[in-house]
Amino acid sequence: MSDAKTIVILGGGVGGVVTATSLRKMLSDQHRVVLVDRERDHLFAPSLLWLMTGQRTSSKIRRPLHGLARKGIEVTRGEIKKIEPEARRVRVVDRSSGHDRGSCRDFDADYLVVSLGAELAPEIIPGLTEAGHNFYALSGAESMRDALESFDGGRIVVLTATAAYKCPAAPYEAAMLINDYCRKRGIGDKTQVDLYAAEPGPMLVTGPEGSASVRRMVEDNGVTYHPEYQVVEVDAHARRITFDNGATAGFDLLAYVPPHRAPRVVREAGLIDDSGWIPVDRYTLDTRFPGVYAIGDVTGIPLKMGKPLPMAGVFAERQAKVVARNIASSITGRGEPALFDGRGECFIETGGGKAGYGGGDFYAEPTPQITFRKVGRRWHIGKVLFEKNWFRKLF
Ligand SMILES: Cc1cc2nc3c(=O)[nH]c(=O)nc-3n(C[C@H](O)[C@H](O)[C@H](O)COP(=O)(O)OP(=O)(O)OC[C@H]3O[C@@H](n4cnc5c(N)ncnc54)[C@H](O)[C@@H]3O)c2cc1C
Repeated sequence: MSDAKTIVILGGGVGGVVTATSLRKMLSDQHRVVLVDRERDHLFAPSLLWLMTGQRTSSKIRRPLHGLARKGIEVTRGEIKKIEPEARRVRVVDRSSGHDRGSCRDFDADYLVVSLGAELAPEIIPGLTEAGHNFYALSGAESMRDALESFDGGRIVVLTATAAYKCPAAPYEAAMLINDYCRKRGIGDKTQVDLYAAEPGPMLVTGPEGSASVRRMVEDNGVTYHPEYQVVEVDAHARRITFDNGATAGFDLLAYVPPHRAPRVVREAGLIDDSGWIPVDRYTLDTRFPGVYAIGDVTGIPLKMGKPLPMAGVFAERQAKVVARNIASSITGRGEPALFDGRGECFIETGGGKAGYGGGDFYAEPTPQITFRKVGRRWHIGKVLFEKNWFRKLF
């Protein structure tokens, strides 16, 4: 019988929850699986888009993390203040009541898994927070829903504040869903939806053909697309966006994707490199510190084509399974080592109960090999089933 080990998982999002539940299935009770997050609930972020257009309520798209305790996972609600990767030690400030309570607790891990995601930083762009709705966060998706409900026509702008962000499809889906929502509410003829993107084209990591097909989807759905518009500042009072090419755009309603960066605690731990994210072995997700793994949005995995692997839940999930398998195998001495193969896919909601689909091998060289499927009802149903199964299998 091997010695009892402690695995500490930082983050109760996609990567963290999948790592914890996978490990619990593979390890006997003598080993501790500890999961730490500041939030009470696990949020299924893809459904924020449906929440924004009134097709979901917030209780339908989240689950209390403490529900994982039934599976034998030790869930701690707290703010991770310090990570010492060499010592595999973590300092957590208790937030069990929903606020920082000041009392600290240190966790010493035999294996440490960092899955802290990307920190959203709208404050980097002057005026953005005051002017619009950050639909990448629950509160912003809810405020955008409320604003849409009372909207009676005008110009809606969807804006990406930087060229790189999680789920490269999401702002494109958001623009199409908002347009569809306005049509259904009977205000389509007095509403215009514009998408101003910092990037030169949609989902460019998938290659020029994939990008062009997503652009067609967006434009065929009545959204006006403006690529390579880098926002500099937003005037909330005048409802005007200024871009670095000197252009300006007015709006009546603004929904935005904020700049992303690695969480502060990760930056302060010396875990990141010049990319701003944690470098890892692209197959095993090992960091340069023994026994410390990083998965999901917080990692930076460069691809041969010059762009990083996109931040997406589908990758966080698969990386989590690989890391869980390898930790379990290192503890028990059983099972073959697993490798993350860079495969992934996504649904692209277009509105009207339809979606497109793209998927394939993102590690293929020299460029990812991604296949796109025609927009249809089946991919929308696929996304709905994916959401249903997500909670069923994990909580
Ligand atoms: C609108 C939207 C739509 C999306 N749609 C899709 C989709 O269709 N398909 C897809 O594959 N992906 C999608 N994504 C992306 C997907 O949600 C992320 O890529 C995925 O959640 C990343 O998982 P993660 O574990 O790396 O990070 P997260 O799921 O973000 O989890 C990070 C966790 O760490 C916690 N945390 C961070 N810092 C601290 C701290 N200091 N102390 C304590 N806790 C902390 C956070 O509270 C959070 O729970 C979408 C995202 C958005 C916003």
